[in-house]
Amino acid sequence: MTKEEPHCVYLVGAGPGDPGLMTLRGRELLERADCVVYDALVPRVMLGWCRADCELIDVGKRGERHILPQEKINSLLVECAQRYVCTVRLKGGDPYVFGRGGEEAAALQAAGVNFEVVPGISSAIAGPAYAGIPVTHRDCCSQLTIFTGHTAPEKGDSLPEVAAIAATPGTRVMLMGVSRLADSMRALQNAGLPGDTPAAAVQWATTARQLCVRATVATLAEDVRKVHLSSPAIVIIGDVVRLADTLDWRRRLPLSGRRIIVTRTREQAGTLSHSLRELGAEVVEMPTLRIVPPPDKQAFAKAVVNSPHHDWLVFSSPNGVERFFEAFFAVYEDLRELGGSRIAALGSGTAKQLRKRGLMVDVMPQEAVAEELIAEFDRKADDFGGLANSTVLWVHARQARDVIRRELDKRKAIVDECIAYDVAPGDARYASLLLEEGADLITFTSSSSATNFVRMGLSLPEHCSVASMGPVTTATLKKLGMPPTLEADLHTIPSLVEAICRWAGTTSK
Ligand code: SAH
Repeated sequence: MTKEEPHCVYLVGAGPGDPGLMTLRGRELLERADCVVYDALVPRVMLGWCRADCELIDVGKRGERHILPQEKINSLLVECAQRYVCTVRLKGGDPYVFGRGGEEAAALQAAGVNFEVVPGISSAIAGPAYAGIPVTHRDCCSQLTIFTGHTAPEKGDSLPEVAAIAATPGTRVMLMGVSRLADSMRALQNAGLPGDTPAAAVQWATTARQLCVRATVATLAEDVRKVHLSSPAIVIIGDVVRLADTLDWRRRLPLSGRRIIVTRTREQAGTLSHSLRELGAEVVEMPTLRIVPPPDKQAFAKAVVNSPHHDWLVFSSPNGVERFFEAFFAVYEDLRELGGSRIAALGSGTAKQLRKRGLMVDVMPQEAVAEELIAEFDRKADDFGGLANSTVLWVHARQARDVIRRELDKRKAIVDECIAYDVAPGDARYASLLLEEGADLITFTSSSSATNFVRMGLSLPEHCSVASMGPVTTATLKKLGMPPTLEADLHTIPSLVEAICRWAGTTSK
């Protein structure tokens, strides 16, 4: 008899909002979870790390408006543990810092369910850090107090906690306290805390929406009201708040405060996401398309088998290169089997994939547009004696426009086609979850990512600008009723990133 896998519930801290602040252990558990029970403050992008068949249960609660009462969450976790081997209870920040994780653990323990805890980075620590405030500093304090503003008194200052917090030295960080900020600041002053003590409030800390107000205990509530800063926010009280004058590292990044959705396939999003993230943006990858095998697998296999000894190989996309060589090496062991074909690539990304395989490109247009590739062929025709009677293998996606085929035919080339992959819409459930959180900009790097966005039943979040990779994508976006705010000058990722930085420089957050 094989031993059954023990069922377990993992209480995992999701960190304060920036998905990069999740622990490695937490991510690993999300990737293998059968079920995830999550709160309102959990970044939706993390749900994309789960398996496609993972059950996602939203028990979101924000501030005092509990969508599901705590007892119900406790019993839900026990039920999940009966059904699933791996249940992740995903909670904002750290599960044991004002997260009621202790109650959930106790309920699991009482029901005889195995549980483990994966701590997370609490907003109480990360929030100040992202606002340029170190919670401790040798020159300012030797003590850190974290308390909840939830139980702060409506009136009066007689509660022991208020007196204790007012009297305690060092940095004090209050969670869940902005809705009653004026009352608690008054109570603390009445209990003896000097009104000129530095204080700050940080909303949506570590995300693109982060908003920070710096003042004093006497003036904070009024300043917070003026900018409509509300929950979720932390309040920091103490001399360390002054250090933000010099330590506010996040402001200097050009895309800081911008939430940008990148709609590419998961495989392709890497370079664009990385560049935007390095410039300070909060990047959300939302795959609107998936690369799947071509509809006619046999025809693809046949085209690959017959690929050697063409005069030309023309690759339309990086994915085409990858899929082609995957299949090629399933049949042939040696790259030299390919023969001495000349190679054309539509765009630098495609050329890069070829270079990775030790193949240099003979023809590549400046812009990754089919018409430009043909123009480049014409410009270079004298170098290789034109295309007439040359055999060409054109490797492309099922959806490729037929410009290349048509134009090569016109130039009397003998064209074989190799349809290497198909493009299917992405996961609509996940995409809708991401859109719930809104965005400042959404990038479309191809017509198909735009078409699939609409096909998935999605629509643009409010006040969201649109970025296009080039004229063809722009035309599609206009047709779909999503005219772009900005377009890359050249059909390349660096050029798109440049255009996004220009846009960020001229629009306010
Ligand atoms: N376990 C969480 C706290 C849960 S209580 C943690 O360790 O961070 C919820 C409170 O956390 C909110 O009312 C707010 O005070 C604070 N909070 C959580 N995420 C926050 C964020 N990104 N920015 C500011 N405050 C946040």
